[in-house]
Amino acid sequence: MAAVCDRERCIHCGGCVGVCPKDAITLRETRIEVDSKRCINCGLCAKFCPVGAMRIEDGV
Ligand code: SF4
Ligand code: SF4
Repeated sequence: MAAVCDRERCIHCGGCVGVCPKDAITLRETRIEVDSKRCINCGLCAKFCPVGAMRIEDGV
């Protein structure tokens, strides 16, 4: 399980990057990347995201 960013919804505001307690999220230009090894599935990024782009999903 890890947070997953829906790139079609994301507006690249960077808010989730700041809210993540594990520094698992990186904003590279217009692309959000989540380090699934760091993510603890706390859901803060999903709760914070103003456009509902972050979801907690089963990772592969
Ligand atoms: S679920 Fe929590 S730990 Fe995982 S990326 Fe979101 S804020 Fe960070
Ligand atoms: S908070 Fe939501 S809209 Fe903002 S960068 Fe993160 S995923 Fe994208």
